[in-house]
Amino acid sequence: LTRLRDRLARSGSPLGARMLQVLSRDHLTEDDWDELEETLLLADVGAGPSQELVESIRTQARVQGLKDPAQVRALLREQLLALVDPSLDRSLSTAPRTGEDGVTVPAVVLVVGVNGTGKTTTVGKLSRVLVADGRTVLLGAADTFRAAAADQLETWGSRVGVRTVRSDRDGADPASVAFEAVREGATEGVDVVLVDTAGRLQNKAGLMDELGKITRVITRTAPLSEVLLVLDATTGQNGMNQARVFAEVAGVTGIVLTKLDGTAKGGIVVAVQRELGVPVKLVGLGEGPDDLAPFDPEEFVDGILG
Ligand code: GDP
Repeated sequence: LTRLRDRLARSGSPLGARMLQVLSRDHLTEDDWDELEETLLLADVGAGPSQELVESIRTQARVQGLKDPAQVRALLREQLLALVDPSLDRSLSTAPRTGEDGVTVPAVVLVVGVNGTGKTTTVGKLSRVLVADGRTVLLGAADTFRAAAADQLETWGSRVGVRTVRSDRDGADPASVAFEAVREGATEGVDVVLVDTAGRLQNKAGLMDELGKITRVITRTAPLSEVLLVLDATTGQNGMNQARVFAEVAGVTGIVLTKLDGTAKGGIVVAVQRELGVPVKLVGLGEGPDDLAPFDPEEFVDGILG
């Protein structure tokens, strides 16, 4: 878990570096406070939260007579942590479920999001984490829209000895692949079925139809344990607008924030959770197989503060 902190620190987050620079000044002037707010804005914390945070720190610094930048920094850490909300449940439910009829079905994790955000990569990394954790896994390549997606998923799966259920032709019905994957998973008695989907965002109605159908056919066999929305941390407000549509139609239970490596936009976590009302559960820290980490608020805040 120290990885998240190290990686963020190494990515040279200007949020941390710049804030420390401002806070290390002897007396914080009006300009310094403005600079602090601007730094938060640049890190994608969002206008509302940035302003609230700086105002709150200013008020508390005044009330408590804090002049020492180290104390102001501690206050900042505390307030950032509160914004990230450590009380949210970030655990992933990946345990098979036994129904009232005594039949056990796999935990189904549906992965949704716009194309290119890192869905397939995330499913691949997650399968690794689960296998390392002793779980049996089956992958469903329901991204039938992008020709290479199933191959890409299969490659990830084969590295950890996990089978991929796919269609043998492009443009097949994603719902039928999802149905088949979950059905086979139940028959084989695997613990978890991870279903990759296409990120076609033609319009809200189309997306709702597609994801609605996928959900309906899956739940004939097993309930959805998680619906993870994958969001690219580098896409800012535009990515957020697209993510909002998915959150509205897909009953999202958690966010996977990818490409947090090498970006200074860590503050997006705050904005995402606020706007979508769903906790960030996992973060992507690179393209490699081990570059997925559980999201830990304390590590995260320490990482962006440097
Ligand atoms: P999909 O279309 O949503 O399935 O996206 P892919 O999984 O194909 O990923 C798109 C690109 O983003 C690929 O080149 C991935 O290697 C890259 N990618 C995915 N996750 C991460 C991440 O956490 N960090 C970085 N740097 N690249 C990532």
